[in-house]
Amino acid sequence: MSGAPIKPSASLEALLEENRRFPPPPGFQKHANQRDPGIHERASRDVEGFWAEQAESLDWIKKWDRLLEWNLPWAKWFLGGQLNVSSNCLDRHVKTWRRNKAAFYWEPEHGQSQVLTYSDLYREVNKFANALKDLGVRKGDRVTIYMGMIPELPISMLACSRIGAPHSVVFGGFSSESLAGRINDAESRVVVTADGAYRRGTIVPLKQNVDAALENCPGAEHVVVVDRVGEKSKAGLVEGRDHRWNDLMEKADSYCPPEPMDSEDILYILYTSGTTGRPKGIVHTTAGYLVGVSTTHKWVFDVKDEDVYWCTADIGWVTGHSYIVYGPLANGTTSVMYEGAPDWPDKDRFWSNCEKYGVNIFYTAPTAIRTFMRWGAEHVKKHDLSSLRLLGTVGEPINPEAWMWYHEVVGGERCPIVDTWWQTETGMIMITPLAGITTTKPGSATVPFPGVEAGVVDEDGQPVPPGRGGFLVLKKPWPAMLRGIWRDPERYVKTYWSRYGNLYFTGDGSKIDEDGYFWLLGRVDDIMLIAGHNISTMEVESALVDHPDVAEAAVIGRSDLITGQAITAFVTLKLGRATGSDKAEELKAHVSKKIGSLARPKEILFTADLPKTRSGKIMRRLLRDVAEGRALGDTTTLADPSVIATLKQKYEGQEA
Ligand code: ATP
Ligand code: MG
Repeated sequence: MSGAPIKPSASLEALLEENRRFPPPPGFQKHANQRDPGIHERASRDVEGFWAEQAESLDWIKKWDRLLEWNLPWAKWFLGGQLNVSSNCLDRHVKTWRRNKAAFYWEPEHGQSQVLTYSDLYREVNKFANALKDLGVRKGDRVTIYMGMIPELPISMLACSRIGAPHSVVFGGFSSESLAGRINDAESRVVVTADGAYRRGTIVPLKQNVDAALENCPGAEHVVVVDRVGEKSKAGLVEGRDHRWNDLMEKADSYCPPEPMDSEDILYILYTSGTTGRPKGIVHTTAGYLVGVSTTHKWVFDVKDEDVYWCTADIGWVTGHSYIVYGPLANGTTSVMYEGAPDWPDKDRFWSNCEKYGVNIFYTAPTAIRTFMRWGAEHVKKHDLSSLRLLGTVGEPINPEAWMWYHEVVGGERCPIVDTWWQTETGMIMITPLAGITTTKPGSATVPFPGVEAGVVDEDGQPVPPGRGGFLVLKKPWPAMLRGIWRDPERYVKTYWSRYGNLYFTGDGSKIDEDGYFWLLGRVDDIMLIAGHNISTMEVESALVDHPDVAEAAVIGRSDLITGQAITAFVTLKLGRATGSDKAEELKAHVSKKIGSLARPKEILFTADLPKTRSGKIMRRLLRDVAEGRALGDTTTLADPSVIATLKQKYEGQEA
């Protein structure tokens, strides 16, 4: 961990005030899946009993004997139990009326949309599970999946889970080198991919990337290729190694018995976003993970059988794993799955999708919301969004003004917003409102989910008083927690457990207000120390976004001889607003007014884009590298390397 430490004595004195309150709409409260105002307290009185109760709603082949073995920092849940994830997501639904219910409305960027019912999905998963077996994949073997957002992606994941082969999904935007690294790390013998993917009208050469990657992956023996772009693909098939998806499916038997899996057998490996450094290969297991994601999905999103739910994430990230695939399917939900970009063919694509499918529950990221703010409300207002009844966000802290925009423009002031804090490591949502119970405050993720114990502590692990900033920690094991970093137990202990020993260190800064609400302040590495005071990047950014011209801001502290660190702000204005030194002065004054002169940025650089990870998170560490004239750190997870290159040039030019 680098960056300015949060000093135990220093308070976050520069505080952005937020007094707006949004109680649950009365109609919502009455019908919410979880409407017991005492649920949090009841769960915390008996955390293990609470999770045992939730686990009852899964289909077990064999019930567990012991609920939890906590051998700090190693947890095992539901010991002695056996179940299969794919049969929880499919078999138990096809035995009921849900067999003809849509599991996915698949909306392609290009071509014909498709409806996959639960029985369609069941059939395809069974067949592909057999196809994998025919290629020699056995229980415990890892399979790497590298695809766009097409139905074969969840089908492949579920097929893996059916035969007990842990999957490692690599986001389709990664390069061949990143892919090769992940194939080798997981030691996968089989790679499942597509001949290409559509993205904004162009073709992502997935198969060519696989071909290039496999030059450096001696262990990979088989490649399965979905025909997605057909003749537009420039890649061929390698004789003996490559197999067409359709050929394998034609030959495969239609039923594959689900493998009885122990609760603690590995379900998957997934790499973190790489916002703070080299990505970590996070390991999730079977029972606890499924209990965690199904319970949170049911309560946080309040999904009912008749709802249409859309999580806009890519399945290549944990949000897609937990809240497009496993949580929703375990609950028998109907989801929209969208292949393409938010601005293809036009900037209203998300809203036209919402209107087309009558989406009731919509879950996206602050980075997307800020982009929509930048593009302007007119794109949203073109569409009838009256079906929406609940909105969610995940991925970064949401600036209060972005929250308000989401509430007013997208939610028509009627939809509760759930700001959900969690990580690849936590597997499931950890801090979140429950829409039927919790009064929300714009910018706060509110309170820990029932059965989750979180806190904010100082350097010594002591709880900080209300309103003070500190480190967000998790105090008790939870069922969906990571079981380690793949083949790197030392990094697991060092990253999460070395700071306090008995508390899980999240790497995020937070404060808790008088009502016990959590306010995420950004990465602890990003916290700034200005003239002896800790100031959070989040609060300065939120003050900037509060200005009517600003769409997005990234703030960093750079070394300064006088104050220790000085604030540099990188600011993106809404489309059509003028930049210039007057505007910069105006924004500086705005921050002084909102927070105090201590938080006034010393310099402001206007930019059309900010460097982001492929999952859409601002990479402040690279901005710090630029501002301090260092070589850039790990950039392999950058979505668009040209953004930081341009910024570097611009920044250095301005200084000269
Ligand atoms: P790496 O761990 O490789 O640096 P990463 O932390 O970005 O990457 P993820 O697991 O995808 O990888 O992201 C989890 C992080 O995202 C959290 O630790 C937190 O910083 C941020 N985050 C997610 N949801 C929220 C939220 N609702 N509010 C604030 N921050 C959030
Ligand atoms: Mg992280």
